[in-house]
Amino acid sequence: MPSTKPPRPHGSGTASERARGPRTPLQYVKGVGPQRAKLLGRLSLETAEDALWHLPLRHEDRSHLTPLRAITPGEARTCAGTILGVSPPPRGRPRLPLIVTLGDGTGRLNAVWFGQPYLERVFERGQRLIVHGKAVAKDGRLQLQVKDHEIVEDDDDETIHTGRLVPVYPLTQGLTQRPFRALMKRLVDAYADQVEDPLPEPLRIRRRLAPIARALRAGHFPGTEAEAAQGRRRLAFEDLLLLQLGLAIRRNREGRRRGVAMNPPGVLARGLRESLPYRLTAAQERVWREIRTDMAEPYPMNRLLQGDVGSGKTVVAALAILTALEAGHQAALMAPTEILAEQHLMTLTGLLEPLGVRVGLLTNAVKGRTRQGVLAAVEAGEIGCVVGTHALVQEGVSFHRLGLAVVDEQHRFGVAQRATLRGKGESPDVLVMTATPIPRTLALTLYGDLDVSVLDELPPGRTPVRTYARPEQSRPQIYAFLRQQIQAGRQIYVVYPLVEESEVSDLGAAVAMAERLQRDEFADLRVGLLHGRMSVQDKEQVMRAFRDGAIHILVSTTVIEVGIDVPNASVMLVEDAERFGLSQLHQLRGRVGRGPWKSYCILLTGASSDDARRRIEAMTTTGDGFRIAEVDLGLRGPGDFFGTRQSGLPAFRVADLLRDAALLEEARQEAFGLVAADPGLVEPEHRALRAVLLARWRGKLDLASVG
Ligand code: ADP
Ligand code: MG
Repeated sequence: MPSTKPPRPHGSGTASERARGPRTPLQYVKGVGPQRAKLLGRLSLETAEDALWHLPLRHEDRSHLTPLRAITPGEARTCAGTILGVSPPPRGRPRLPLIVTLGDGTGRLNAVWFGQPYLERVFERGQRLIVHGKAVAKDGRLQLQVKDHEIVEDDDDETIHTGRLVPVYPLTQGLTQRPFRALMKRLVDAYADQVEDPLPEPLRIRRRLAPIARALRAGHFPGTEAEAAQGRRRLAFEDLLLLQLGLAIRRNREGRRRGVAMNPPGVLARGLRESLPYRLTAAQERVWREIRTDMAEPYPMNRLLQGDVGSGKTVVAALAILTALEAGHQAALMAPTEILAEQHLMTLTGLLEPLGVRVGLLTNAVKGRTRQGVLAAVEAGEIGCVVGTHALVQEGVSFHRLGLAVVDEQHRFGVAQRATLRGKGESPDVLVMTATPIPRTLALTLYGDLDVSVLDELPPGRTPVRTYARPEQSRPQIYAFLRQQIQAGRQIYVVYPLVEESEVSDLGAAVAMAERLQRDEFADLRVGLLHGRMSVQDKEQVMRAFRDGAIHILVSTTVIEVGIDVPNASVMLVEDAERFGLSQLHQLRGRVGRGPWKSYCILLTGASSDDARRRIEAMTTTGDGFRIAEVDLGLRGPGDFFGTRQSGLPAFRVADLLRDAALLEEARQEAFGLVAADPGLVEPEHRALRAVLLARWRGKLDLASVG
């Protein structure tokens, strides 16, 4: 007669543990204690529920225990047996293994451990042992070289560690798989059923997601790989949904706020277009149309303009700025560095002043009376367009009528700064520009509350930059090549890595190199130097000289990473290229190839790590910024890429942007649907979701004002 086994009683966990439910601090869970709780804290596991979300890295298939008799040399096997004898290595022969004889009724086998003589004191005759390893023939007999073993305690439930898919966890020093796995089993048994499922049932059914308890069980102790994947998917979905819900709520709130409708006849914009020596690309036209439409709406624009280096974002921004001005408003452009702000100032001045627009600069380098003058003129509305750094969002800066805020290179700013800039006007339109192409999954995460426009076309006539990796030994040939290029009328960038502007040693290398090149190899030419520690005036002077062709070779730290635009420069030589990040290298390369000449990027590298080699390889094999960004994301992981950590977004527990791209789209759809139907998540069936959402965003989400 078939019988259904009753579920195992929740034997683990005291009454008081269960009373506190999944929020029970791990320290109070039976068998943990302060010492282990501390170790668990290193994994950011504070409560039972935290631990439930700590999924294994993988599952190891121990569903088949091989009878000892059936062990053959070759593949790794898992088997179980009773200890029949333990023989430690002979005294003074520590290189010999500890040998344990196991028996299981089908046969006997010697299991061996090298370099762990202390195990002699751990193993006892009669103990049951599970071993995983590879059998080899030794002196005509088989022995199993153990990779992984576990002692089965009397009160152990052997089914945790063998005869199944066994979870293998990411751990920290001081924690080992076996006891951790046993703890997880206890936690899953005791608490998984008590975790409230925040996902509304219709959504779960629609998206084929298991209830939370089942997902947690399957994520840790699945019956099959497919079950594990299902469980993981459910948990990852929740991470992604919580993120997208927060973004949807922000966006919904912004979208319903009243903004200024700016829809002037377009005289100024037309004036600019007529003054350009080129025609806008189709992509620029399309993106400009999207922006203009947004600006005309009586709601605040929140748009991301994405475009590879050199795709021509600035002129699009200038059109938007002119539109705001013609509608009687002011515009601000915020850049991440002083040098980039200055570059924008020069560009915008060139584009806008002929049309009668006054452009001002506000950075921390603008001091004293000049600063007072700018501040006063901005406040009085006499300066129509002000360019600056984060200094723009500081206190003491007030606008007469800010209608448009353009933020360049957004990834260096936090979400908070964007909000502060927005607060300088009455819900001004916001246009965020980024030169680093972002994989869609990341864009939906970092900029999930923005509409996205993409400049996916470079202006005509650009030739791809040829990129080569070269070792130090090639330096003489490289210098000869540089000379050849200069003789042909071109100019050269030589770039040094500089992790921090303040890193004196790196700065020293750049300074010394500039001096040496000027004194030795290129004594007959002019070598310039540019670094972040120079005064604004000095920087500007050097940049001007380079732009005007008075400097042939510009030795620089990464300050030229963004912004400089000298079409005549045709070669970029990057020193210690392996020290740069991939996106950074791509940005740097974007400084050449801006004119009609063949351009080159030479990466001098003694490629060290695997990652470094892959970065260099990506650079030499593709010029496509999106491709570069994907590779970079894969290499660095999303947390590091653009510093999501500073972004104020909640961290994922299970989800992984690379792995879960498709799931992210599903979660986004659901999130925006939920918020459209119930903006404050106040319906009873959303109550649990709302609570979890607020907890995950930790006060960074203001739901109250929505409800
Ligand atoms: P981005 O900021 O996107 O990196 P820029 O706005 O600095 O790019 O533009 C790069 C260069 O391309 C500038 O010299 C600019 O004048 C030029 N440019 C922009 N749009 C066009 C176009 N449609 N045709 C030709 N050149 C253009
Ligand atoms: Mg730019």
